[in-house]
Amino acid sequence: MAVGSILLDFLVTKEWRRVRIVQKYGGTSVGSIERIEAVADRVAKTCSAGHQCVVVVSAMGHATDELVQLARGIDPVPEPREMDALLSTGEQVSAALLAMALHKRGWPGRSFTGWQAGIVTEQVHGSARIEDVKTEALRKSLDAGEIPVVTGFQGISGETVTTLGRGGSDTTAVAVAAALHADLCEIYTDVDGVYTTDPRVVANARKLEQISYDEMLEMANLGAQVLHPRAVENAKQFGVNLVVRSSFSNEEGTLVAESAGYEQHEVVTGIAFEREVARIAVLGIPRAQHGLATVFGYLAQRGVNVDVIVQSLVQAETVDVSFTVKEDDTQRTLRVLEELRGQLSYREIVAEQGLAKVSIVGAGMISNPGVAARMFSVLADGEISIKMVSTSEIKVSCIVESQELDRAVQQLHGAFLTENLGESFTQTTSSVAKHAY
Ligand code: ASP
Ligand code: MG
Repeated sequence: MAVGSILLDFLVTKEWRRVRIVQKYGGTSVGSIERIEAVADRVAKTCSAGHQCVVVVSAMGHATDELVQLARGIDPVPEPREMDALLSTGEQVSAALLAMALHKRGWPGRSFTGWQAGIVTEQVHGSARIEDVKTEALRKSLDAGEIPVVTGFQGISGETVTTLGRGGSDTTAVAVAAALHADLCEIYTDVDGVYTTDPRVVANARKLEQISYDEMLEMANLGAQVLHPRAVENAKQFGVNLVVRSSFSNEEGTLVAESAGYEQHEVVTGIAFEREVARIAVLGIPRAQHGLATVFGYLAQRGVNVDVIVQSLVQAETVDVSFTVKEDDTQRTLRVLEELRGQLSYREIVAEQGLAKVSIVGAGMISNPGVAARMFSVLADGEISIKMVSTSEIKVSCIVESQELDRAVQQLHGAFLTENLGESFTQTTSSVAKHAY
C-alpha cells in the first residue's frame, strides 16, 4: 500500500479522495542506479494507486561531500557563489536520473531544478532560507499529469543559485508540500522512523508511531539526525503532516503532526543525545560591567554557537558563568574570549572537553512534576555525575562525561521508556501530583 495505515485514519476522516503527496528521498535512498530504480518503482506504485505525487531528491550518496572535496582541492575557502553553483549539481544528477527511470516505466517524470521549481531564497550562500515557492510551474506540470521531480537543497535568489545548508532537502520537501497544500509529506530515509532513542545505543529502542512537532523539534535540535530541524519548524508553521519512513522497506514509519489531543502525551517520548561537547567557564567577571551581555554578544557576533548556559550564584563583586559549545569550537571560543580579556578583566578561563549532553523529551512533562528529579536520581543511581542542567517546558538536558553517555542513555531509557517501568512512572508522578494539590 502506498500510504501507511497510520495515515488512513487521518485521511478517512477527511473522506477518501485522491491524495497529493510530496515524497522526499535522501542520499542513501538514491545512492545508486539500483536504488533510483527502486525509488521509481515506489513513486510509480503511489501514482498507480491514484495519488498525485511530487518528488524531491537529495544528491546521490556522498555526492555532496565529494563536491566539497573537489572545491577544497582548489581553494580551502572557495568563493561562496561558485560553491553553491557547484553543490547544486549533485541534486540535478539524481533528479534527472529519477525522471528517466520514471519514463522508462511509462510515467511522465519531469525534473525541475530549484529555480525551475520556483524556490526563491534570500541572498545568502551556503545556508539560504526559502522566502517563497512560486508554484506555477509545478502546478502546470501536475495538471498535465506529470510527476515533477524537484532538486532538494537549492533555490534561486535573483539570478544566482543558492543552497539551503547541509541536510536542506528536507526543508525543500516541506516548503513544496506547504506551497502545494499537499496532504502529506513523506521523508524517505535509511531508517524506518523516529525512535525513542538511537537503537545503536539502546537495543530495545522503539519506533514511535507518532510524535508532535514540538517534541520532534527538540529531538532534532538535540542531535537526532533523522530530520533537519528547519524542516520540522516549517512543517509546524504550515501544518504539514510529515511521515519519516524507510525507502528500503514497507514499514509504516513515524507520523510527525500536531499532537494527538489533550492528556495523551507520553511523559517522556524520547531520549536524545549529543557527543563532543565542551564546557567553558569564565570566572571572576566584575559585576558592574554587563559581563554576561558582553561575553555572549561577542561570541554571537563571532558566530560561536553557545548551548547550555549556567550562571553561578552572584557572590560579592564578581560573577562566574559557564556554557557549552561543540568540542570542535573550543579553540575558536577561547580565542574570542582571549580578545575580550582587556575589556572584561575576568580572572580566568577554564575549558573542559570530553563531555556530552543527554536529554529527555516529552510534551507530557508540562503537566507532570518530578520528571527532572526522577532523571537526576536515575543518573545518580548509575553514579553518573551531572555537570550542568538545562530545561524547557518539554525537555530536561544534562551534561555528563562523554565516557558515561551510553550508560546514561541506557539507564534513562530503561527508567522512562521501557514499557512497564514507564507506566509505573506515569502513575507515580500523577499520584505525586494529586498529593501536591
Ligand atoms: N545533498 C545535500 C547534503 O548532502 C542536501 C541533502 O541531502 O539534504 O547535505
Ligand atoms: Mg538528510
